Amino acid sequence: MKTPFHIMIIPTLGCPSSCKYCWSSEEGSPVMNIKVVKDVVAWLSDFRYDPVTITFHGGEPLLAGSSFYRQALPLLAKGLAKNKPSFAIQTNLWRMTPELAKIFAGYNIPIGSSIDGPEDITDY
Ligand code: SF4
Repeated sequence: MKTPFHIMIIPTLGCPSSCKYCWSSEEGSPVMNIKVVKDVVAWLSDFRYDPVTITFHGGEPLLAGSSFYRQALPLLAKGLAKNKPSFAIQTNLWRMTPELAKIFAGYNIPIGSSIDGPEDITDY
């Protein structure tokens, strides 16, 4: 089994949380324009390795919203089909919605989250 090549996409640097150790910025940070996703597909057009895993990371990637993922996922899945892409997302889950969950389920996207310890440490 070949080791996947990992690509990370950060749809926004924003996050609704404010962990003291994190560089992430405020919730209202701009969201990646879908043109950037198209540019990623074009940029990788000659990339022949497979499989690739594309992870949506942040900031808090759910802040990009359903509209972003409804556009980005088919663009990446079809545009990089030769690379056999799979997807993942790392999120604090604060903004998960049934709509987003359904979109992610449609692409079999595993959802990673973390609890860093007891409440006082996690909240810190
Ligand atoms: S939840 Fe994650 S992205 Fe958000 S401030 Fe905390 S460590 Fe940073």
